[in-house]
Amino acid sequence: MRIKQWQTWRVPLVLLALLVSVTLSGCQSVEPVKAALSSGTNDSAERTEPPALGKDASEIPQSPEIPQPASADSTDTEQSAPLSEQSPAPPPADESDNNPSPIPPFGGKQTPIHPFYELSGTPPSAPGLAMRVRAFGEEPQKIAYLTFDDGPYPETTPRILKILKDEGVKATFFVVGKQVQRYPDLLKAEYDQGEGIGNHSYSHEYSLVYRSPESFLAEIRHTEELIYQAIGTRPHILRAPGGTQGHFHVNYYNAVDAADYLVYDWNVSIGDADAALVPTEQLIHNLESQVPGKSRIIVLMHDAGAKLTTVDALPQIIDYLKRQGYGFGVITPKVAPVLFPGGFHG
Ligand SMILES: [Zn+2]
Repeated sequence: MRIKQWQTWRVPLVLLALLVSVTLSGCQSVEPVKAALSSGTNDSAERTEPPALGKDASEIPQSPEIPQPASADSTDTEQSAPLSEQSPAPPPADESDNNPSPIPPFGGKQTPIHPFYELSGTPPSAPGLAMRVRAFGEEPQKIAYLTFDDGPYPETTPRILKILKDEGVKATFFVVGKQVQRYPDLLKAEYDQGEGIGNHSYSHEYSLVYRSPESFLAEIRHTEELIYQAIGTRPHILRAPGGTQGHFHVNYYNAVDAADYLVYDWNVSIGDADAALVPTEQLIHNLESQVPGKSRIIVLMHDAGAKLTTVDALPQIIDYLKRQGYGFGVITPKVAPVLFPGGFHG
């Protein structure tokens, strides 16, 4: 009798056990997604510099048009810039859990990672990424976009502007809101000379900027307003402090795109933030070792009060690029960004 009762209950029990196990495994599958999102934020606490891209990049589809950075040394030397970069404080560990942005889909077929824009305007793709298609302009066969981050500063900005004018070339200044607040006239001088203007956050403090995509965007909005007050126009281009690598994850890209901004990393760095003051010859050497083989280059430099050798090296930098046959462009939303691939992996 007892055996018969057991047999009667056995089927529903087995079904119940199956149901429980399916439910549990369903819950567990959420964890890797959460962990991936968190790691994006945690990374910024530990790595203020992008890692070497040489090896990693080989796993990712490469664009011949948008070469990846040559090495870790080309990364944002912004650390030695005279702002907050020297003491990046770790952000709170769980901030990303408060992020209301959509969780990337899991299960089924994942979107392949394609971490760059095509010159045709096709945006990057990655799981959870939603960026709009763009329309980029025609470019000469060899084009250089000189960029200066962290200014304006009275010690360097007027000197840089004079050299650009004398050499007959244009550049793009990614300005910091704090500095715009102090020196709006210098921003106006850049704008009046026809240079490109981009947004580089308000505080440039990694611990504030990279707390969440919302914090990032709040800094961008604040600076946008200050730029607008100074020159009457709002840029739609930005550079992430320290670059996107180790700082951005897909929700940052989604937030930036939704706000109609394009974000620009770089594929050549003169290395002027590798030390407080890098000798001019070293800056030129850094440039010359990264440029060959690239048809379009976005060159990272700093417009920061202490970076006097950058100003000293600038005429030689421009002359070298002219001799290599490059034209000089201003970055606008019509220019396809160069992006580091790291932020598209989670
Ligand atoms: Zn910077």
